[in-house]
Amino acid sequence: MFEHMEKYAGDPIFRLNEAFHRDAHPQKVNLTVGLYYDNEGHIPVLSSVKTAEQRRAVEPAPRPYLPMEGLASYRDAVQKLVFGPDYPALRDKRIATIQSVGGTGALKVGADFLHLAYPDSEIWISDPAWDNHHSIFQGAGVRTHTYSYYDPETRSLRFDQMMSELQALPRKSFVLLHACCHNPTGVDPSPEQWLQLIPVLAQRELIAFVDMAYQGFGTGLDEDAFAVRAMADAGLTFVVANSFSKNLSFYGERCGGLSVMCASAEEADGVLGQLKAAVRRNYSSPPAHGGQITSDVLNDADLHAAWLREVAEMRRRIAFVRKEAHGQLKTKLPGYDSSYFVKQHGMFTYTGLSSQQLQILREKHGVYIIESGRISVPGLNTRNIGYFTDAMADVLG
Ligand code: PMP
Repeated sequence: MFEHMEKYAGDPIFRLNEAFHRDAHPQKVNLTVGLYYDNEGHIPVLSSVKTAEQRRAVEPAPRPYLPMEGLASYRDAVQKLVFGPDYPALRDKRIATIQSVGGTGALKVGADFLHLAYPDSEIWISDPAWDNHHSIFQGAGVRTHTYSYYDPETRSLRFDQMMSELQALPRKSFVLLHACCHNPTGVDPSPEQWLQLIPVLAQRELIAFVDMAYQGFGTGLDEDAFAVRAMADAGLTFVVANSFSKNLSFYGERCGGLSVMCASAEEADGVLGQLKAAVRRNYSSPPAHGGQITSDVLNDADLHAAWLREVAEMRRRIAFVRKEAHGQLKTKLPGYDSSYFVKQHGMFTYTGLSSQQLQILREKHGVYIIESGRISVPGLNTRNIGYFTDAMADVLG
């Protein structure tokens, strides 16, 4: 019955990750998948999470279904984290927020919702993109296009071109924007550029879908939400997906949030109903354990304070590794401009290495980087960074 079906090629990033694990190279370095590793090469269990779990384990509770929209305390905490604790729209109840199944689940429910609201609208996604953005929106029945974003020549944003392309979009088009730490390039608009871009969204009546998968990994939890908060200040109606996969090191627990900023409490109430309907059709209700722990960490004053310190520590380590890579490459490859390591933000850096250079890195040195040349920076640590920069010097020298 199903023999006619095309074979799923799998995700190229996961395929390369598997090849890494099969490789017997003694000094191999994995820079493929977007996971934060600590300096020991481990995915951290945050102490704030550990304490919350220990507290909950003392008296194991029954596991009923959560409501379709998730835990109320979780949803409140998401709003405070994304928009800022004192934001007036929170008090005015103008934001419809649900607990989602990771950032991906937020994107899918948000895509279903937008497609229902504007069935003829299409979405524009950055070039290059996190590939799943195209797949998720296409899966929701939304046609996808790209807008200019990254200039490989200058290793920076094609801001003017991006602006003029957005200005030419049909009204009520959807625009996918990364709040911070753009995946895959690490290049973000500056606050000044966001303030130029937001009026274009307003004038063209474009509907922004902001993806904030790395809040806290760029400049700070509040700083990384600059674009979201500036859009809210400008009175835009827009959608935000946030994720706890990275900043709570909670990947497999599948915790995220989807928020729709509305013009009134009444509108937000109607939107929340449609988000619930989309959840019901997709997976019915979100995970209870991860939701409860996330809520505990965000709502308990001590755990929250500990979490803030832990996010800052992860952010500082990424910045340290970037600086170290830049410094070492400057010495080992004096003619090579490695300043992109420190100019780009967050988990990812776009190296611009060719397919052939990537193959040599992989086959000769056991350094695994995905085909686009994107490095997942936290794969580097004080033990392997010297080896990595030697390997870079070998292929670039
Ligand atoms: N958006 C972007 C840009 C991402 O990089 C990721 C994670 N790789 C996600 C969304 C999805 O996040 P999650 O793992 O929480 O589903």
